[in-house]
Amino acid sequence: MKKILIVGNWKMNLNVQQASLLVHKLNQLIAVHRDVEVVLTPSFLTLQPVSQEIDHRKFRLAAQDGYPIDEGGYTGAVSFSMLQGLVQYALIGHSERRIHFNESLELIRDKVQAAVRNGIVPVLCVGETMQERLEGQTRLVIHDQITTALSNLTDDEVAKVVIAYEPIWAIKSFGGTKPATPEDIQKAVSWIRSVVTDLYGAKTAQAIRVIYGASVEPDFVAGILNIEGVDGLLPGSASLNYHEFSKIVEKAHAVNLEQKRG
Ligand code: PEP
Repeated sequence: MKKILIVGNWKMNLNVQQASLLVHKLNQLIAVHRDVEVVLTPSFLTLQPVSQEIDHRKFRLAAQDGYPIDEGGYTGAVSFSMLQGLVQYALIGHSERRIHFNESLELIRDKVQAAVRNGIVPVLCVGETMQERLEGQTRLVIHDQITTALSNLTDDEVAKVVIAYEPIWAIKSFGGTKPATPEDIQKAVSWIRSVVTDLYGAKTAQAIRVIYGASVEPDFVAGILNIEGVDGLLPGSASLNYHEFSKIVEKAHAVNLEQKRG
């Protein structure tokens, strides 16, 4: 049985002191749940202090990015090999990196491979822009993003990857105000698994975790987690607010209890 995965993406927010205040609150408000895995994604600057302050029974850590080469003359970069031991996960291919930093499909593929090589689970973010959606390109965009990103991995390595469906038009930093509809999410999640099935087989496609991100707030948690094939959530803005983020975690736990009862 998969645990529900909740990954809070802090983006480029919170200095060391602010991050410490948020962690202090989250340690207090969030309980240990065996059915929910909670991952925090601070900036590179705050990862180390946050790692010393989190309650490790409740939280795991992710990096927001990583550089695909392990070491050398790449001023300003932080490699996955440097993140080893500090984080269990890394976001790769987030739309803000694809768009603001011009990250190509090939660079994202190399990052996925470097993360895996260094024992870090990639949270591969995929999703279409509003324009691509209107042009009916969603399926193709997701297909290309997944096919390229996973192309250097073995079946066993792919099985451990997390894929986050994040429709760009629904992300708050790109002007989104509410999540995609359950129909949109359901379709995208099943496309994601069908792409993985075609490339790596049905067993691998069932093993991967597929989560949803973009405008996730506490009120939407049950609706999204009850969609077939959705294994978790990736809230951005809401993860900076301890009331909202702790509610998201509690609601995820409640959904799981109800699903077990039902
Ligand atoms: C994100 O960009 O990963 C995200 C989900 O952002 P938000 O929840 O703020 O839309």
